[in-house]
Amino acid sequence: MCGIIGFTGRKQATEILLRGLEALEYRGYDSAGISVMTKDGPVTVKRPGRVVELCSVVAERGGIEGTCGIGHTRWATHGKPSEANAHPHISNTLVLVHNGIIENYVEIKDFLTSRGVHFCSDTDTEVVARLLDYNYNGSPIETISNTIRDLEGSYALGIIFADHPDVVYATRKESPLIVGLGKEESFIASDVPAILRYTRDYYLLEQEEIAVLDHSGVKVYDAYGVEVQKERKTADWD
Ligand code: GLU
Repeated sequence: MCGIIGFTGRKQATEILLRGLEALEYRGYDSAGISVMTKDGPVTVKRPGRVVELCSVVAERGGIEGTCGIGHTRWATHGKPSEANAHPHISNTLVLVHNGIIENYVEIKDFLTSRGVHFCSDTDTEVVARLLDYNYNGSPIETISNTIRDLEGSYALGIIFADHPDVVYATRKESPLIVGLGKEESFIASDVPAILRYTRDYYLLEQEEIAVLDHSGVKVYDAYGVEVQKERKTADWD
């Protein structure tokens, strides 16, 4: 298991992502990383090792200014723990974190390589980032919907497109993911404890649903891009 956290709102994202990763440490991991959308585009810091070490690296570079971002603790399944294999993965138009295993990643990688796409890591995850980028048509929901149809295996995904820098997109199949509902802020997380210090309200994302989060709120669509009404859940425990 790994951990996913994502945030968009009016507050600084870095602190919220790092605290969220700490809250997910119990799930086990070997690497950690965050991407924050700055005014100059996404800034990504990732490395093998503990979240506390990631916090030091982020602090040494003077923090990262931005109000939207995603973070990840990785439990390596494809490719050793290394900076290149750690998440988030970057592919031109987007940054992405993934929990799970893409079973047909070799097939997709071969297809993309034959189209001239270059890979920087040994992970199954990078094929999802590259395929989304390859398919990107300016509509994130349509692109995610088209892309997940080609994925076999398990995934929880958090994605930010560079041309929608205030919006976090999320989807899942088999791997868990929740969407936290705050006041003028929203979250994605692998589990409720990661968001409890900010909100108790959340949606459980169902198989292949696509969530779109920004500071005005959250919308959820089915795998074909049709909006669905979700039941708001409330955590009544500490
Ligand atoms: N399969 C992916 C990897 O090896 C994700 C692993 C995870 O869920 O942490 O990077």
